[in-house]
Amino acid sequence: MRFNELKILPLFIKQLEKLGYQEATPIQEEAVPIILSNKDLVACAKTGTGKTLAFVLPLLQKLYLRDESVKYPRRIKVLILAPTRELAIQINDLLQAFKEVSNIKSTAIFGGVRQGKQVLMIERGVDILVATPGRLLDLYQQGLLSLEDVETLVLDEADRMLDMGFSQSVYQILDLLPGCIQTLLFFATKSKEIKKLIKTTSHEPKQIMVSSGHEAKDTIVQQLYFVDKENKAKLMFHLIESTPIDRAIIFVKTKRNVETLLKKFDRAKISAVGLHGGKAQSARICALNAFKENQVRFLVTTDIAARGIDIDDIKYVINIDLPEQKE
Ligand code: ADP
Ligand code: MG
Repeated sequence: MRFNELKILPLFIKQLEKLGYQEATPIQEEAVPIILSNKDLVACAKTGTGKTLAFVLPLLQKLYLRDESVKYPRRIKVLILAPTRELAIQINDLLQAFKEVSNIKSTAIFGGVRQGKQVLMIERGVDILVATPGRLLDLYQQGLLSLEDVETLVLDEADRMLDMGFSQSVYQILDLLPGCIQTLLFFATKSKEIKKLIKTTSHEPKQIMVSSGHEAKDTIVQQLYFVDKENKAKLMFHLIESTPIDRAIIFVKTKRNVETLLKKFDRAKISAVGLHGGKAQSARICALNAFKENQVRFLVTTDIAARGIDIDDIKYVINIDLPEQKE
């Protein structure tokens, strides 16, 4: 379906075309009208279905269409929570891609870096705040931001956020928000915790299910090798050297496994970068960018990069350790 059939304004459609988006994906087709009509939404869809634009676009349009008198001063009207810093940045990048046409300001806040710049951006005024739960609570408790004008809450990768131990923070944040807001929940698996979260946050929500989120896409060929633990890395290097695998994301279970494997890449003189929660934020951003921009061939990571992160042209994924969650 085309975006104009979804009542998206021509100025947004022009920008969508510039960014290379021609038609809405199925989840966008279903979610956009629901969000535009101010209803609560509960959406179950797997990674890669286009959820970010599904909420970014209608939320921007609604803010854009507000009466001038209620636009300024800019206050946080939309709060988007995401489980990882990388995902918060990615969501904000998409919001920023519409800044010129929408005149809607946004920023992302996350832990692991100094708060100064983030605080400054908030002080200057933003309409949309993208945040990881920990840093949001931290700044709130210091009295550096107000949540009293929030009208819409988005929980992206909500199931992931709950399993990453953010459950308590998420509920704490919910308590800080005004009573009657629009909530939009996006997740890949409907666990018991998700059902409880839906009950707490959503009022007669519209539900969307875009495929079950369980089965792999049928365009993906999967191969399994049975191999002793000590030979896993050797087999991987053999595959890298003897097959067309020129670039891949490699998942391992622990931070230590990331570091050990990186040393082996170094010894083999093959370019690779690592990503895990124990690294400084600046190092994480550098590593991800180097991989995205094709400066290095391999990204070795814990499952921190498994959800929501969008990297173009990945043809291969190697799981050295079995993933904890199949999604
Ligand atoms: P999800 O959050 O469901 O994992 P993303 O929002 O990260 O998915 O989008 C996955 C990829 O699909 C991104 O590269 C994004 O640019 C692309 N994409 C999203 N919507 C469209 C569209 N309507 N047309 C073409 N590409 C799209
Ligand atoms: Mg996503």
